[in-house]
Amino acid sequence: MFTKEELNQIKKTVRISYVCHKLGIVLSGNSFQCFNPVRHNKGDHKSSCSIDTKRNKFKCFGCGVSGDNVSLVSQVLHINTDDALALIKGWISKEPDNNLWQEDAATSSLPELSPALISEMDIIYSDLLSQCSILSDTPQGKEFLCSKLISPEIAAQFNLRYLQMPQYNDVMVYLLEKYGLPRLQTSGLFNIKKDGRGNLRFGWKHNVLLPVKSNGKIVFMQGRTINPKIRVKYLNLPVPVGSMFNQDILSHLLPNSPLFLTEGALDCLTLLSHGFNAVGLFGATNANKLFLDKLTPFALCVAFDNDKAGYSGSAFVRSYFMRFAKLVHVLQLPPDFHSVVDLLRTPTGKSSLQKEALLWIK
Ligand SMILES: [Zn+2]
Repeated sequence: MFTKEELNQIKKTVRISYVCHKLGIVLSGNSFQCFNPVRHNKGDHKSSCSIDTKRNKFKCFGCGVSGDNVSLVSQVLHINTDDALALIKGWISKEPDNNLWQEDAATSSLPELSPALISEMDIIYSDLLSQCSILSDTPQGKEFLCSKLISPEIAAQFNLRYLQMPQYNDVMVYLLEKYGLPRLQTSGLFNIKKDGRGNLRFGWKHNVLLPVKSNGKIVFMQGRTINPKIRVKYLNLPVPVGSMFNQDILSHLLPNSPLFLTEGALDCLTLLSHGFNAVGLFGATNANKLFLDKLTPFALCVAFDNDKAGYSGSAFVRSYFMRFAKLVHVLQLPPDFHSVVDLLRTPTGKSSLQKEALLWIK
């Protein structure tokens, strides 16, 4: 449940144009095509909905449907206000830059990195990884991979690494000497303290390093804790996430190939370890137009977690493709399974997924 203050805060500060963008609604100026076509005359394809950016409201002049930023989410996705709020909070918590969603922002487009900066980040990230242990070579890493049903071969292919004390100090000194603090802070690898100094973010609590590649270059990195006592499981670098995990697979896949979409990199690696094609998001509610449009050619199955965020995320992906009359399969997990990993843990898990894949590509 959310407090009234929280609701009002979100209604006031989260721009309706940002919400449209996250919902995959394409704005032309301040108007868009109504999401409620059943209530319109046939052939009425005009952009009859308009948004009021000052008051954060919308109204359709065709069918009369109206509301604010929160009710737009609940109406488009057919979810209640609490779930809509949870979804919006999930979106904005993952934005590296407040300007993206807050009112008075100048632009709503995703930030793009220059090719020079992408190359620079790839060099620094690759160098960091080369200084860390190969994940499956460490006892902790072996155990972690085993618990996630990720094969050592897949872990090696995706260059998963492990960093902890005292190696942490050596790696930090190595990077500082080679690149200098400002470049390391620009790459997101080092934090920026009040006095201007900074430390390597990974290797402290988040020891497993997950590089994310796009067009062969590492564009983003995620740290994962293996300590169940640490509440925040993932540490994302504070740079724009311009790619899904394993996105490069898409250029090798034939149209209509079965493809899983997972809410995280690890579930994606688990599926790959079992011979399935998969790409991963960084959170169930982190899908956006930039990512989803790339998935259009494939027979998509959404395999998110069996929880509230997973349901909201699946509903969003499904409704996004519904507007192009593309059907998306959503994996139904038994109530006692939390994720697709639990399904694959059962003796018949893999074969039942294979059978299900045959059904949904038809
Ligand atoms: Zn309408």
